[in-house]
Amino acid sequence: MTDLTGKIIQVHADDNVAIVVEAGGLEKGQCLPDGLVVAEPVPQGHKIALTAIGKDKPIIRYGEVIGAAVVNIGQGEHVNESNVKLPQAPSLDELALATRSVPEPAPLTGYTFEGFRNPDGSVGTKNVLGITTSVQCVAGTVDYVVERIKRELLPLYPNVDDVVGLNHSYGCGVAINAPAAIVPIRTLKNIALNPNFGNEVMVIGLGCEKLQPSTLLDDRPVKIYENTEAADPEANVLSLQDDSFHGFNDMVEGILAMAERHLERLNRRRRETCPASELVVGMQCGGSDAFSGVTANPAVGFATDLIVRAGGSVMFSEVTEVRDAIHLLTPRAANEQVGKTLIEQMAWYDDYLSQGQADRSANPSPGNKKGGLSNVVEKALGSVIKSGNSPIIDVIGPGERLRRKGLTFAATPASDFICGTLQLAAGMNLQVFTTGRGTPYGLSMVPVLKVSTNSQLGKRWHDIIDLDAGRIATGDASIEDVGWELFHLILDVASGRKQAAADRLGIHNDLVLFNPAPVT
Ligand code: CA
Repeated sequence: MTDLTGKIIQVHADDNVAIVVEAGGLEKGQCLPDGLVVAEPVPQGHKIALTAIGKDKPIIRYGEVIGAAVVNIGQGEHVNESNVKLPQAPSLDELALATRSVPEPAPLTGYTFEGFRNPDGSVGTKNVLGITTSVQCVAGTVDYVVERIKRELLPLYPNVDDVVGLNHSYGCGVAINAPAAIVPIRTLKNIALNPNFGNEVMVIGLGCEKLQPSTLLDDRPVKIYENTEAADPEANVLSLQDDSFHGFNDMVEGILAMAERHLERLNRRRRETCPASELVVGMQCGGSDAFSGVTANPAVGFATDLIVRAGGSVMFSEVTEVRDAIHLLTPRAANEQVGKTLIEQMAWYDDYLSQGQADRSANPSPGNKKGGLSNVVEKALGSVIKSGNSPIIDVIGPGERLRRKGLTFAATPASDFICGTLQLAAGMNLQVFTTGRGTPYGLSMVPVLKVSTNSQLGKRWHDIIDLDAGRIATGDASIEDVGWELFHLILDVASGRKQAAADRLGIHNDLVLFNPAPVT
C-alpha cells in the first residue's frame, strides 16, 4: 500500500487507480507526486486515474481487474460507476481448488476470555434467556411478556443479562414442505442453540400453525438434554391455543412461569476463564465505501488470522460480495472438497438470483456508490479481505451450524439483517461489523462491534462506533495495530469487561429469516 503524500492511496503496485484520502476530496488543478495533476474534482473515497486508461482497457485496483473503461479516461480523471463497465463474473468451471500452499502460521497461545461454558461445550459471551417462537402470530404476546419479564423477573436474577423474544415472520402461510423451506426451518432450530442462550430451549407457539413447535425441537443434540427437564418438550413448549388458557392473562402467566424455571437455571451460571479458541466470531460489512477495503476490512482480516491462530472460529459470509472474488478464495480451500462446496454455494446463489430475474448488479447500493465503490467487483475485492489469509477449512449452507474451528465460509445473502440472523444460527458468540457510510446495526443476542472505515464517521458517530480503522488511511495506525486492538477488544467484550456500543445504547435490529421457498 503506497501513501502518496496522504492525499491518495494506491493499494497495489499494479493499480492504475488510487483512492482519495483527503477529507473534502481533490480539487481540479491540484498537483500530486509523480507529476499527477487532478483533472477534475474527485470526492473523498473515490478513485482517480493514475495513468491514462484507453477505452475498453482494464481498470485495476487491489491488483485485480474491477472493470473496463467505457470511454478514454485521462490521467487525473475521476473513475466511477459511469465510466467503468462491469466485467463478467469469474466462471465457476475453471477455478483452482486448494492449490495455495502457505506455511502454517505459529499458534497464538495464552489468550483467554471470561465466558459462560454450556453443557454442550460451547461458550457464551452473554447469559441470555431466549424465547423461541414458531409463528409470527405470537409475536405481540411474546413482546408483551418479554417486557414484563424485564421489569418484574430479571431484577430477581442478577446473573442473567437479558431476555430476548426470537420473533420472526415465518411459521404459517408458507410452503412448509418445499425443498428450500429447509433454510428458514433449520435457521430457527439452530438459533435456539446459540451459545448465548445457555442450551436452554423454550418455545412459544400458537397451535394451528404449519411450523409445529415440536419441529423446532427435532435434531437437538440429545446428549445435552438427556435426563434434564430441558429434554421434555411438554415442559418447554407452550401453545397459546391450549384449552387450559382462559383469556390472555392465563397465557401470560403460563409463559412467565415457564420463563422463571429457565431463569433459575441460567442465574446459577458464572463466567469462567476460557481459551480464545472458544471464540466464534462472525465477520460482516454494511454501508461500505471505498475505504472498507483499505482500512477496516484489512484490519478485520488481520484479527481473523489472530483468532484462527489462537484456535478459534471465524466465519465470513455474504455470497454476492464474495462471488466476484471467488477466484481468490478457491485456491485457499483447505482441500478440494471444501473448494467444490464453495463453488456449489456460488452456483446455488447464481441460480437463485436468476430465478428472481435479478443479477449481481443489484449490489452495490446507491450509498456504496456515493462512497466511491463503482461496482460489485470492487466491493467484493474489498469485502473478502475480512477473511484474512487463513485457509478456508469448511463451507456451510444458510442456517447450518458450524462444524469446525478455523475459518469457515458461511453462505448467506449480503443483507445485513439476514446475514446476522444466519451467523447467529451458525453459532457465533460475537460479531464484528465494518461500515463506511455508517449504520446503527446491532443484535440483541450477541455483542456487535462496529468498526468505521474512515475517521470522519468514527468521529461523527463517536458513541455508535466501537473502533475507528480510518486511522490507517491517515497514517496514524497500521493495519496490524488496529487488528491487534480489535482482537483485544473482542476478548474484553466477550468477557463482559467492556460493552459494545449497540448494547450500551440498546439499539438492536430484528431477526430476518432467509426464506428462498414460496409463500402461500
Ligand atoms: Ca452485509
